[in-house]
Amino acid sequence: MSSIIQLLPDHVANQIAAGEVVQRPASVVKELLENAVDAGATDIKLIIKDAGKSLVQVIDNGKGMSVTDARLCFERHATSKIRQAEDLFSLCTKGFRGEALASIAAIAHMEMKTRQDQEELGTHIIIEGSKFISQEVAVLPKGTSFAVKNLFFNIPARRNFLKSDTVEFRHVMDEFQRVALAHPNIHFVFYHNGSEMYNLPAAGYRQRIVGIMSGKTNEKLVPVNEDTEIINVQGFVCKPEFAKKSRGEQFFFVNDRFIKSGYLHHAVMAAYEGLLKEGAQPSYFLYLQVPPNTIDINIHPTKTEIKFDDEQALYAILRAAIKHSLGQFNVAPVLDFDRDANLDTPYHYKDLAAETPTIQVDGTFNPFTDDKTNQHYSKVTSGSGSGSGFSSGSNSYSGYSKRVEPSASWESLYVGLETESIESSPFSFENEEVTSSLFNDDEVEQVSQKTYQIHKKYIVSPIKSGMVIVDQQRAHQRILYEQFLLNMTVNQAASQQLLFPLNLFYSSDEMTLIEELKASLETTGFVFEDAQTDHIVISGIPVNITESEVSIVIEQLLSDLQDGIPASSYSQNDTIAKSMAKSLAVKTGSYLTEKEQDNLVNGLFACKDPNISPFQKPTFITMRVEDIDKKFAL
Ligand code: ADP
Ligand code: MG
Repeated sequence: MSSIIQLLPDHVANQIAAGEVVQRPASVVKELLENAVDAGATDIKLIIKDAGKSLVQVIDNGKGMSVTDARLCFERHATSKIRQAEDLFSLCTKGFRGEALASIAAIAHMEMKTRQDQEELGTHIIIEGSKFISQEVAVLPKGTSFAVKNLFFNIPARRNFLKSDTVEFRHVMDEFQRVALAHPNIHFVFYHNGSEMYNLPAAGYRQRIVGIMSGKTNEKLVPVNEDTEIINVQGFVCKPEFAKKSRGEQFFFVNDRFIKSGYLHHAVMAAYEGLLKEGAQPSYFLYLQVPPNTIDINIHPTKTEIKFDDEQALYAILRAAIKHSLGQFNVAPVLDFDRDANLDTPYHYKDLAAETPTIQVDGTFNPFTDDKTNQHYSKVTSGSGSGSGFSSGSNSYSGYSKRVEPSASWESLYVGLETESIESSPFSFENEEVTSSLFNDDEVEQVSQKTYQIHKKYIVSPIKSGMVIVDQQRAHQRILYEQFLLNMTVNQAASQQLLFPLNLFYSSDEMTLIEELKASLETTGFVFEDAQTDHIVISGIPVNITESEVSIVIEQLLSDLQDGIPASSYSQNDTIAKSMAKSLAVKTGSYLTEKEQDNLVNGLFACKDPNISPFQKPTFITMRVEDIDKKFAL
């Protein structure tokens, strides 16, 4: 019987290996940048087009390659970085597997130019899908340039699998930032589609972090320094009050390599214990140096996870070092009245119960007679500082109270509860017939109008068949969600002009996202001035939010869009409306006046879809008298 096992041809083996190493343009960026760092470059230029789908080019001024090496580097397991297995335990380079170039060359069009300092001429090689197309001697600058074009040109399935340019670009950005943060002593320049994203001169850690994140980062950072026998920790953590909702800015570098470690993250969070609001995420940039023989980097092909010999000791040291820094720089939470209210998050609402929100509703106001009268419904005068968060809840209220037909008493709405669902939508309230038919229903008994708030969480109200229990937060989310969606899709939302435009600072990643969302945000009532590189300028905001809520809304939005912006404008609007409803809805734990309770209940049942929150959770339940009877019969 004939034998059937064969060795795979090299190009097939390389393509298979590429599956592990190269998932997307960002993987190419990572590998090429790391090679340039390993080559001792002091100047590295990254140029990409179409989020790296058409071109990824890295140009360095490193040591270059000889003619032989230039040819050999595309072979699998060809590396200059280790010679024997033992070398794995004394690694100080990024690469060592010798797989990257072979893998990339197998699935793209690649051009390499390289010259060593001592040579007069360099080598120019073109290779496509593992096939050498040409090799020439050429006059070249010192260093190496790799250009990778048409990634996955020979694997359409993989190419089609790539995400939108926005998403792919964010991945590239992540990789670039990781390498640039790890090597502040190298000058990096980054171009995308011809525009300069970054130009980062050689600097120290702090300056590099600020250069990458944004101008305002500097004041948020607290230095961390700890030198022990088994580890040296340097870097920065952010002051607790600047913690964000998203986990975007959290970086560990071990021996100058970006790594992910849930365990070490936990150590950092433990150091912040008691200093953070629930769910808040501190930014951190921590540089750990450990002896190379105490870690194993070889456990993951992209080398972002590593294993430490003595994890527990590292945990303890890291936690103590950060705790010490946070204490030393006196950043334990203090009542800071001068603090910029824009940076406040809504978490503290529940602690402010003493300040009862007040609301004045203009009962005679009819929004449908004049669409320019949005200022008509009264706003609670909001104080500045931390108190302002509260009034915002009420403002949102006034926002929706205008939608509710003033004469529509709440009990009439409940009639619908006894049948199926309510036919009327909030947007058909102008239709007298709908409301009056609800009113004139002979079967409606007069029931008490009273609503009760229990545990600052639920609104309970008797209805004909028993009682209804409304979840205040979810109900308000539903109301706001429908309102925003309507504004975005049907109406041109009204906007309130700000006396002083708001400047909000964001990282370049976040700026890209905001840029993409601008058009949709404008339909909600935001007015943007020309964007700057690291901040946005807002001169108008939707009528139903306050100035102090703007940063909260945008922050929430950015965190909700971590995985990319939906492609269709419909789902974009939907996401924005949901996110804004989430940030602006009155929270569990907020005390509501009777009037507000009423408005909430009325507003909910005036919604198109009152039964569920925008996040598919029930907004209310009903309990029939018979159900209650049954409980007593026991
Ligand atoms: P690894 O980095 O794991 O060694 P690669 O496939 O990434 O494997 O690279 C193969 C070899 O090519 C490297 O070991 C190095 O000798 C050489 N090389 C790659 N990029 C460069 C560069 N930019 N400058 C000089 N040499 C390079
Ligand atoms: Mg490499």
